[in-house]
Amino acid sequence: MSNVITKPTLVVNCGSSSIKYALISEDNQHRITGMAENLGLDNARIVHKCLDGKKTEVDIPGANHKSALVKIMSLLGNQSPIAVGHRVVHGGREFSSAVEITPHVLSEIKRLKELAPLHNPANAIGIEAVQSIYPDLPQVGVFDTAFHQTMPPKAYRYAIPKEMYEKDFIRRYGFHGTSHAYLSHRASQITEQQGPHGWLIAHLGNGSSTTAVYEGKSLDTSMGLTPLEGLMMGTRCGDVDPSLHIHLKRTMGLSLEQIDEILNKKSGLLGVSGVSNDMRTVESIANDNSHPDQKNAELAVEMFCYRAGKYLASLSCALPHLTGIVFSGGIGENSATIRARIIEVMRHFSLDLDEQKNDSLYGGEEGSFHTADSKYELWVIPTDEEYQIAKETRAVLGL
Ligand code: AMP
Repeated sequence: MSNVITKPTLVVNCGSSSIKYALISEDNQHRITGMAENLGLDNARIVHKCLDGKKTEVDIPGANHKSALVKIMSLLGNQSPIAVGHRVVHGGREFSSAVEITPHVLSEIKRLKELAPLHNPANAIGIEAVQSIYPDLPQVGVFDTAFHQTMPPKAYRYAIPKEMYEKDFIRRYGFHGTSHAYLSHRASQITEQQGPHGWLIAHLGNGSSTTAVYEGKSLDTSMGLTPLEGLMMGTRCGDVDPSLHIHLKRTMGLSLEQIDEILNKKSGLLGVSGVSNDMRTVESIANDNSHPDQKNAELAVEMFCYRAGKYLASLSCALPHLTGIVFSGGIGENSATIRARIIEVMRHFSLDLDEQKNDSLYGGEEGSFHTADSKYELWVIPTDEEYQIAKETRAVLGL
């Protein structure tokens, strides 16, 4: 293996106090990855994984995004990127595909903070930091929402007064688009069935969403104006009665901010189990009869699976034709039990799973687990958002 990777693209995912990065070779065969965390704090540090898989940890006390990126670039050494692709969470109605960053694009990303207050400002900080260090390096924004811009109005509109859509852009946007794009494309590559292909994609991780994709186009998805709508997640409640806010305010005197915090950070698996947002922990407590929260943990797992199955079944209405279901994300890629329980919820779909194959799929394995009798295909595909971002970045720049 050569020590220098060819024409690499740097993929950057900036959070409010973190930067995840991956330098990916043109042929996607080589990758350097890492993460800067605790930015702005005394314990800020970078964990950097070299080409050979060796990890280095570097303390960068008090570093901000810009100084962390300078250090990341120095850790990359002679592996200089030819372009940078940024994950940007919200692209609003403006961005239906990845775009090269221009002053106008950057100001739109900042303006869209009203729709993604936690994410878009951090994404913009990352773009500006790279710009100030390497003004000549082309940069591309790849939006989580863009893939879902193909949804028809019947799927993306809320049944609220039309002025709210026309003037204030209140609609369903959907998220995890980069993952859904990668997974549906990959499924169509590896199935032996001839197209057209219709997929139900279940991205099940700490954040979870499902999408109906037909011939590479998102036709409906479970997340909405924000990533709170849809499935039950690690700490997010997913669908609740919209009157819950007013009810909690009226009966418990909670402020909107407190309610928002409860529904986003204290609900989901964590809220129902009372012990953890992490599916591995919740599953193991659900299996431990001596644990005081065993029943709560079991209910959390049951609700998670029921809601995922219910959502997948309902999203099938968006597809002219169904080829199969794809499971991904930390939970979908690793838990055979959760996959089996979701399929059990969808009992009217004549899905027939091969238990042995299902049990063998975890830890990054890709493969199908349906039997020859199954009406629809069942796949586990590890998601690869970094690769998708690198691919879209190169396509936008014609590299
Ligand atoms: P992600 O957000 O995609 O990184 O996924 C994180 C979620 O995947 C957490 O809830 C983990 O507990 C869950 N997860 C990872 N491995 C397993 C596993 N072997 N069984 C069940 N859940 C898992």
